Amino acid sequence: MLVAPPGAGKGTQAEMLSVHYGIAHLSSGDILRREVAASTKIGLIVADYVQRGDLVPDELILEILTAPILEAVKHGGYVLDGFPRTLRQAEEAYQVAASIEGIELQAVIHLEVGREELHRRLLVRAQLEGRDDDTEAVIAHRLEVFGSETEPMLAFYAKRGLVIDINGDQPVDRVFASIVAAVDGVNVDGR
Ligand code: AMP
Repeated sequence: MLVAPPGAGKGTQAEMLSVHYGIAHLSSGDILRREVAASTKIGLIVADYVQRGDLVPDELILEILTAPILEAVKHGGYVLDGFPRTLRQAEEAYQVAASIEGIELQAVIHLEVGREELHRRLLVRAQLEGRDDDTEAVIAHRLEVFGSETEPMLAFYAKRGLVIDINGDQPVDRVFASIVAAVDGVNVDGR
């Protein structure tokens, strides 16, 4: 599972990890953007939240992600990108995981990047990808939401010894190598 503020490279690293380990890449943000683009029932409900940079209500996220996670478990596992993102999501995901064999988390990768660099990267991405939520005002809000809603959730995983801090302010390949070394270390230890 990857936890990182917007702009830290979470999506890029999650995709590389899913290819490297041959497992599914489950990005809650990508799933939500697809629902919005296709104007599905869920897409219509979540569109405003995503555009404002607010978190989508926990019940909806859990409803959207439970099926893809269970499907991925059947095929060898998953990299979670962007979920859980609140303490409540983490607690509920833990309840679901406890009842199903083979679903437990092995590592929580926390990518750390300074705020100025995040801001700079998000503005570059805005030029390249044109995401609605990569405007100056929404970027500032998403960074705040990360600090108030998501960062506190890390303590939940730290208590179980799962959190691995990685310096995300390095070239993409260096970040990737650090994550793989850390994850393989976890597996070798059998933790
Ligand atoms: P991301 O692509 O991970 O930056 O997510 C983009 C947006 O999707 C976020 O700003 C939220 O509006 C929404 N989102 C993604 N994942 C979650 C989640 N786990 N819980 C609530 N909202 C989410």
